[in-house]
Amino acid sequence: MATTSRLPLRSYQKKMSSGNDRVLATAGRDPGSRAPAPGSLRLVQALVNTLNAELGRDLLGTAAEAARWLGAAGLLPAGSLLTGAEHRGLVELREAIRQVLATHTDRREDAEAARRLTVALASCRLALAIDLAGGVCLASADGDPFARVIGGIAIAIAEAGAVGTWPRLKSCPGQLCGWAFYDRSASARSRWCSMQVCGARSKMRAYRGRGST
Ligand SMILES: [Zn+2]
Repeated sequence: MATTSRLPLRSYQKKMSSGNDRVLATAGRDPGSRAPAPGSLRLVQALVNTLNAELGRDLLGTAAEAARWLGAAGLLPAGSLLTGAEHRGLVELREAIRQVLATHTDRREDAEAARRLTVALASCRLALAIDLAGGVCLASADGDPFARVIGGIAIAIAEAGAVGTWPRLKSCPGQLCGWAFYDRSASARSRWCSMQVCGARSKMRAYRGRGST
């Protein structure tokens, strides 16, 4: 009797790209010194964290900078350029993801955030690739390099959704923060990028607010 049958989900997990072999620069150190998100979700996290609002540092600040970041991340061939529209589309995708991650933090439903990210991802085409070992994985079906970038992000989000890690990727609600962090807590209720940074600032603001009334 065959004993090698596998659940489709496990097969899918095996197909997940590790995301750990890429150079994924972020616009600062993780405030909470947390481990990065697992698998290819790390790519999505790093994209969101190309902006450090507090330091005013943006690794996607210009089309040339964005193309360099995508090249280092393995999403775009080295030396490629982005048009102005593509650059704006990438920044919009980053901020649409951040908005959805905020709904993960707050555990709320937000139709506008969901719609915005759906639209930001809509330009790519994905195909389901079946391999001889019985595995399945998503693959970009676009020839255009920038559409393949969007496809790569979409696949990473789809993989995270399939294995249940997507809701644990959150963005910090701290003022001028928005940092994306992966919540590994047992309750999955972490709220701040760091209790010592944004958590403490929030408590201080609440304390001052009470004192002024
Ligand atoms: Zn924060």
